[in-house]
Amino acid sequence: MNTPADLSTSSTPAHEAIQPGTAIDNLLAGAYLAADALPPYHLLNPQQVAPAIDALIAQAQACLNAVVSAETPTTWESVMAPLTSATERLGRAWSAVHHMGGVMDSPEWREATNSRLEAVTRFWSALAQDPRLYAKIKLLAQAPDVLGHPAREKAIANSLRDFRLGGAELEPEAQQAFAEMSARLAALAQKFSEQLLDSTNASLVVVDDAARLQGIPEPVRAAAKAEAEKRGLSAPAVFTLQQPSLIPVLQFATDRALREEIYSKNARRASELAEEGPSHDNTPVMGEILALRQAQARLLGFANAAETSLAAKMADSPQTVVGFLRDLAQKARPSAEKDLAELKAFSRQELGLDPLAPWDISYASEKLRQSRYAFSEEEVRQYFPLPSVLNGLFSIVKTLFGVEIRPLLALAPAPVWHNDVQVFEVRRSGDTVGHLYLDLYARATKRGGAWMDDSRGRRQLRSRLQKPVALLTCNFAAPTDGKPSTLTHDDVITLFHEFGHGLHHLLTQVDDLEVSGINGVEWDAVELPSQFMENFCWEWDTLHGMTAHVDTGAPLPRDLYDRMVAAKNFQSGLFMLRQVEFSLFDMRIHAELANLSSENPEQAGIAIAKVLAEVRDEVAVIQPPAFNRFAQSFSHIFAGGYAAGYYSYKWAEVLSADAYAAFEEAGPSQYSIVGEKFWREILSRGGSRPAMESFQAFRGRPPKPDALLRHNGLAQAA
Ligand SMILES: [Zn+2]
Repeated sequence: MNTPADLSTSSTPAHEAIQPGTAIDNLLAGAYLAADALPPYHLLNPQQVAPAIDALIAQAQACLNAVVSAETPTTWESVMAPLTSATERLGRAWSAVHHMGGVMDSPEWREATNSRLEAVTRFWSALAQDPRLYAKIKLLAQAPDVLGHPAREKAIANSLRDFRLGGAELEPEAQQAFAEMSARLAALAQKFSEQLLDSTNASLVVVDDAARLQGIPEPVRAAAKAEAEKRGLSAPAVFTLQQPSLIPVLQFATDRALREEIYSKNARRASELAEEGPSHDNTPVMGEILALRQAQARLLGFANAAETSLAAKMADSPQTVVGFLRDLAQKARPSAEKDLAELKAFSRQELGLDPLAPWDISYASEKLRQSRYAFSEEEVRQYFPLPSVLNGLFSIVKTLFGVEIRPLLALAPAPVWHNDVQVFEVRRSGDTVGHLYLDLYARATKRGGAWMDDSRGRRQLRSRLQKPVALLTCNFAAPTDGKPSTLTHDDVITLFHEFGHGLHHLLTQVDDLEVSGINGVEWDAVELPSQFMENFCWEWDTLHGMTAHVDTGAPLPRDLYDRMVAAKNFQSGLFMLRQVEFSLFDMRIHAELANLSSENPEQAGIAIAKVLAEVRDEVAVIQPPAFNRFAQSFSHIFAGGYAAGYYSYKWAEVLSADAYAAFEEAGPSQYSIVGEKFWREILSRGGSRPAMESFQAFRGRPPKPDALLRHNGLAQAA
């Protein structure tokens, strides 16, 4: 009796039900897969990965075969409960492997990960397309223990939707065609990225005279010198089109011709006009990608590829998104025009640049920012020692959601992968609701960036409640010489952001894992809690309360705060319009170019360029030069997962700003009351109901962009 189903519902802790001495027992150190013990990361070791993952895949496969059989009763308890247990165990084990690779990188962890990556990927994609499972889940929609359970109904609906989007409803011939298109699309996405990379690497800007390097920061010059040496060139500097080389030249180089050269080469990348010629032209690749997406959409019965993309998102139709974007553009336009007028006047008067050319914009903007909106990041960070910031963060979530976060100090041995990691207990209304691991300092073995990982999700088992565990990883400067780590204001925002994801995961009240916490939340709504938390980093009272100068203990001075806010809103109108331009272009090509032919990719590519030109005419206040081939390097939508989804950046910002505005309207004395409602209607619900329903339940109306515009200094006097 060691099927996964028995483990999840057994009255003994899960690890006790595992046969001692098995591979899984070894890897997961007994308790790792338990429903209640803290996951003992200190015991994980890469040698155990291969046998354990093999065993977990075999168990999950056996469980799948069992639940789809005709003899298995069509109930949630007989099908979903055991299958979720089996796949959860594999998912949790694999996420631990992935986590260890990300925070304790070593040749051993890399090898362990790579040795099973393909097997795990193969298992998940086969599961997502298993026709026997699809047939069974269809029947489950009417099961007695599903009907009347909204969370389970939602989980089943999500699953059926994903099967359909994968082509499960198609006739065999169409299914075959669909699969071939998917394979071709994967290859084209790869080709798009490769050509872009090759074209980026094909162009160089060689500077023969050191006098032309004026204005460029010393480390960038040193890198450019090293680049020249690497290539065996005697020139004092060679710049590439890679971001760390390109951006500082555009921002700081006093030599206008140098800026023009690098701008022009960059803007023509991966197009027929590229410096190296048309050999890496992405135009036909884009055309074929879009044509195939449209063909797949037609097979699935959608009018266009934008509809396919939105089927699993919060926004209900391409028209809604287009209307949303045009509204933002219209409201941000006056500010953007003001930004541009200010920039032009400054460039003319202070820099002698008239007219302002496209390659002057970053340079002039940087000069303008420095002269009118600059403040020292180094000065600011002295006010944000990590312990004060954490106290401030914990205190605001206590006020908002009644959540108490306490360090677990007396753990021996601590269940952590590194000594820097702290473990916290998360309590609400006197109960422990979950645990949080914080790993905040940068180190050589850690992947860059910041993220929240789900170690274990909330789930009601037959005899007990499995409580969530969140892992929060950042890359802040480590403490030195007895002085605490100090954070830049951007670091503080990052911490609040990831903590918001953590709260979404930890404070859920949903009992079914498929839709608890962040599981099953629509892709364009999942950033709501994280971006919501960022707002408190701009609130004077909150910020003031969590600052203490690392030497004097003094709080953040008001005038420094005012300068930070002014800098935040610098050129926010121009920035907003640029984001809207990209988003509208993305949505319109997927919604409007519904009948492209993959037989004629070149022509499809031209149709795409035409839409881009229309969008620019409509939205942009700064018209790029005719040779600018932005679309040919827009990887997010052609090679990444953002097709007809780029709008979600702005969408989530509107949701989070509007949610936060409910707190502003009520005022700090009412934070607990509004916070309780935010928890009840949004955080606690996870993916158990549509995000729009949750938002409206909280706000009492659909989302409005006004708060976002106001927070960005874009509000217009009516
Ligand atoms: Zn996020």
